[in-house]
Amino acid sequence: MDRVLLLLPTTTYRTQAFVDAASVLGVDLVCASERPSTFETHAPDNLITLDFTDPAGAAETIARFAGRRPIDAVVPVDDLTTVVAAAIATRLGLKTNPVAAAAAARNKHAMRQRLSGAGVPVPRFRLVSLGDDPEATARRAEYPCVLKPLALSASRGVIRADDARAFVAAFHRIAAILRRDDVSVAGEAAAALLVEEFIPGREVALEGLLMAGGLQTLALFDKPDPLDGPFFEETIYVTPSRLPADLQEQLSRVTLKACAALGLTEGPVHAELRVNERGPWVIEVAARSIGGLCSRALRFGTGMTLEELILRHALGWKIASLDRERRPAGVMMIPIPRAGRLVAVRGKEAAEAVPGVEEVAITAHVGQELVPLPEGWQYLGFIFARGETPEAVERALREAHARLAFDIE
Ligand code: ADP
Repeated sequence: MDRVLLLLPTTTYRTQAFVDAASVLGVDLVCASERPSTFETHAPDNLITLDFTDPAGAAETIARFAGRRPIDAVVPVDDLTTVVAAAIATRLGLKTNPVAAAAAARNKHAMRQRLSGAGVPVPRFRLVSLGDDPEATARRAEYPCVLKPLALSASRGVIRADDARAFVAAFHRIAAILRRDDVSVAGEAAAALLVEEFIPGREVALEGLLMAGGLQTLALFDKPDPLDGPFFEETIYVTPSRLPADLQEQLSRVTLKACAALGLTEGPVHAELRVNERGPWVIEVAARSIGGLCSRALRFGTGMTLEELILRHALGWKIASLDRERRPAGVMMIPIPRAGRLVAVRGKEAAEAVPGVEEVAITAHVGQELVPLPEGWQYLGFIFARGETPEAVERALREAHARLAFDIE
């Protein structure tokens, strides 16, 4: 029986989907997390604690484990585990991205340097040390610009500034985010931030699978809500994209060029791109699949999930079809409107009754302290819809969202 090692940070939304996929495929599953599980002593063959911030140490631990129970594939489910996964898989001689490529995709400054060096269209950028004087830096900046941490995700800490005052405020706000207890960054990522030219335009997300350096675009999502800042809250994703076919092809080509520039060759990629009159721009390429519960919007071939596809690829198994189902589909990540304690969620049934809506998954729990962007990274939940057209999917998502009410104290 083939055996898969899943690297599951305790904060991930992705566990269930990958565990379900492994069970459908009938593979033996080894789950590694950064915190010991209470069941670990009962299931030492299937549960492991690993320090994800120490790739060499983690690779050593797994190499010893694999001496006893061989591992056939290593799959990181989230941003936090892409580098350590590459280190482990390299050590075991398995299919993987090079460690340096995974690391470059995890550091927004390294990524910008590689992409601009390879002629991939990216915003102008500058690394700013948190030790620098923000007022002086703000005077030299061009506006509008975007300030962002180097190694967070889910738009956490990404802030637009239109003038020097907003720049200085964003600078201090990001510095405070990097000091939070629930943020673990080290080295350059804890000591600097990136300042970028703001790229106006429409945004899309490309979900892809790299196979031996080639890119298969699995889905291109439109993001119909404008993302103009000051914070960049993800909301609606709808696929197929309504952009013209030639532009969609350009977006796939530029994403492949970005992957090649980073050195990424194998496994899932999730890219954010913008499009304006000057063409496509790469905002980011992450060496992982789509976040949150969003993958539920995707099905391939005759009903395969994205996670099954990723596991099959990692194991080198045959994949019957990489084609997404024909039917338009979408998801809305329900943003946290304000800080406070969640007291009640109302309207879920009414929201699920909207034609086209397939599921409303509320992931925040009553009693939870909610932290909105830019400090937070979570969502209230996710709404899924399918329909005859992308427009119908978008309408259903908006209608369902309007029927939900969140009491926050
Ligand atoms: P994260 O990895 O946290 O998602 P990103 O760098 O992808 O961080 O930025 C999050 C979002 O912020 C993007 O999806 C985009 O909407 C917006 N954004 C980031 N950088 C820029 C930029 N230079 N110009 C315009 N929008 C940007």
